[in-house]
Amino acid sequence: MTAAAAARQILTRLTEVMASRLHAQGKLDQVVEIIGECLSSEVCSIYLLREGMLELFATRGLNQSAVHVTRMAIGEGLTGAIAKKVETLNLAEAKAHPDFQYRPETGEEKFHSFAGVPIVYRERAVGVLCVQHVEPRRYEEVEIEALQTTAMVLSELIANAELIDEEQALGLTAEMTGPQTLSGLTLVKGLGAGHAVYHQPRVEITQVMAEDIEAERQRVYRAFDKMREQIDTLASQAEFGIGGEHEEVLETYKMFAYDEGWSRRINEAIDSGLTAEAAIERVQQHTRMRMREIDDPLLADRMHDLEDLANRLLRIVAGQVGTAASQGLRRDTILIARNLGPAELLEYDKRRLKGVILEEGSLTAHVVIVARAMNVPVIGRAKGVRTTIREGDEILLDASAGSAIVRPLPQVADAFQTRFAKSREKQAQYAALKDVEPFTRCGTRIQVMMNAGLRDDMTALALTGADGVGLFRTEFQFLVSATLPQRERQTRLYRDVLDAAGDKPVIFRTVDIGGDKSVPYLASEIAAQDENPAMGWRALRLALEREGLMKIQARSLLEAAAGRSLYVMFPMVSEPWEFDAAKQVFDEQLAFLRAQKKLLPERIHFGAMLEVPALAEVLDMLLPRLSFLSIGTNDLTQFLFAADRANPKLAERYDWLSPSILRFLRRVIQNSIGSGVDIGVCGEMGGRRLEALALLGIGYRRLSITPAAVGPIKELVRKVDLAELTAAMNGWLANPGPNLREQLSAWADARDIEYD
Ligand code: PEP
Ligand code: MG
Repeated sequence: MTAAAAARQILTRLTEVMASRLHAQGKLDQVVEIIGECLSSEVCSIYLLREGMLELFATRGLNQSAVHVTRMAIGEGLTGAIAKKVETLNLAEAKAHPDFQYRPETGEEKFHSFAGVPIVYRERAVGVLCVQHVEPRRYEEVEIEALQTTAMVLSELIANAELIDEEQALGLTAEMTGPQTLSGLTLVKGLGAGHAVYHQPRVEITQVMAEDIEAERQRVYRAFDKMREQIDTLASQAEFGIGGEHEEVLETYKMFAYDEGWSRRINEAIDSGLTAEAAIERVQQHTRMRMREIDDPLLADRMHDLEDLANRLLRIVAGQVGTAASQGLRRDTILIARNLGPAELLEYDKRRLKGVILEEGSLTAHVVIVARAMNVPVIGRAKGVRTTIREGDEILLDASAGSAIVRPLPQVADAFQTRFAKSREKQAQYAALKDVEPFTRCGTRIQVMMNAGLRDDMTALALTGADGVGLFRTEFQFLVSATLPQRERQTRLYRDVLDAAGDKPVIFRTVDIGGDKSVPYLASEIAAQDENPAMGWRALRLALEREGLMKIQARSLLEAAAGRSLYVMFPMVSEPWEFDAAKQVFDEQLAFLRAQKKLLPERIHFGAMLEVPALAEVLDMLLPRLSFLSIGTNDLTQFLFAADRANPKLAERYDWLSPSILRFLRRVIQNSIGSGVDIGVCGEMGGRRLEALALLGIGYRRLSITPAAVGPIKELVRKVDLAELTAAMNGWLANPGPNLREQLSAWADARDIEYD
């Protein structure tokens, strides 16, 4: 008999038992008989979780008097170890295993070999199915697979027969794995508490046994086709659109997606009578077990990719295509994802999203900027996420410390709440500064503006008392739309933003699409052109060529600002002519509106962003044409260091407080003295306190920063004496020591200036 035929025979017999009118206990008794017989095992036992202990519910081969008597704690003995680690064991000699424990009432002393699998329900082990044999032998793979299949059938039975109290089981298993702490890189500071939700939700398998094997096979075939199509599309975009580490991941995806071995094993599982979903999961369980035995960190990484892919396949087969955002958040949530695009994050309900844990991510990736704008704490590069966090787990995220406590103990949760309250108090102190103007100790007024991108962000203007919006990222509207936003929609947004700002200025940056801000409706064009998107066809470069896009935006802005002042800023200007060309689009639209006798803006101020280092060399040519210049340090530093801002491997490599960046920035401001052009910084750097100190120390007087940083930066400004700070900075930059960050920290400490 082939392995599949043998497996099918087991499944057929199990199906009969499950369909019978026996009560749950009767069914379990039958199951142990069938498995014991089919696997020629003297012993087959089922342990189920009851009141926090694994209780022997049914056995063939052990003393019947031990049923409902023998109980093991989670983690106790081999059975307990299987449940604790949610792992399969296959041992030729049970007694040789360090977790082995002898239970005299069962009469198991004569058995040598042992194999056991966890019975998993909602990703938690709620029981164990095991077999024992007199002869010392390792069970064969097909036998282990048969056990795994049976465990799946049992979990369905358990759910239907309510053999375990679901609430209790979930609660108990939370205790079983206990509290854990994860650490990662702080991407957006802050505290947040909520329940874990995976961005790509896992599929619950509700039916294990197939009714029609051929139909299941067709479902799997179709799902494989679709998955391969998706991966190919992703890869073709990624080749140009993402780059770096993602490419490696996608290569692995591709390798697995086309792996004949994988699809064959799933097919064999279907042959044995499983539904498509159960077959995928069964094969996955088996792979997981084998990978664990190998214990190689590189393979563990690959396992991660395979888990992703298996999950994708499961979701396709189950027709569960949307992300967690499309299902809506039902309670306070800590979102878990490998990585997210800015548009994906924006799909979540801001009121319920309390934090994000990414397995990748870097400080200036746009998703992080969006999260910062949403005031959602984020940690990135968190390790061990999938093995530690289960859907629904309670999580306390301390993004400022770069850590997350999963399934916290009550006293830890209490302490966290106390800190939460303290931090809210601190926030209240910052909020109290909203009407206080940020003058330095020596009496210089510093402009503290905020960055925004969404209509909702504008409420922060009044709450923080920022001097205006120094960077309005207009592309956010493009990122959240499924299609190119029409002129009316753009005009409406800009008008609302201006209304909300009242007398305060708003600097609208024209669209910066491309790079990691890819939009679906332009993806094919961007992909077709660029191999290195951050340095490619993005921002102004794209807008100048897609003139329609720029024209529409120009008209929308001009119309929205009718009768008031308009500030327009062009991103990624690399040479002065690009600024001229962009401005000309506005001039033409202005002429058109004038001819139409439309009400025009009272005044228009044009500015540029300095993000491309080359522009610094020709600033003398550009400055006379500008009314303001804003330095985008996020892009500028990636180009200065040739370090992709979205690449997690480089996230911590270069410091903003490095002489190369600071000297560069100082030169820019010194070269502009006397030009009359207002110069500021609008990258993330300005919102961090030590970095802001450095910027003040080299001559910057206008910062545009994330709203949450406005209070802290105002507080800092009020403690600074500029002459003293400038002298210190000049000294350090003339003769850099090994670590400018440390020097500046010590300087701030000595003056009782708080920093991050
Ligand atoms: C920058 O590059 O610093 C900047 C402010 O623009 P963005 O982050 O949107 O690219
Ligand atoms: Mg930029």
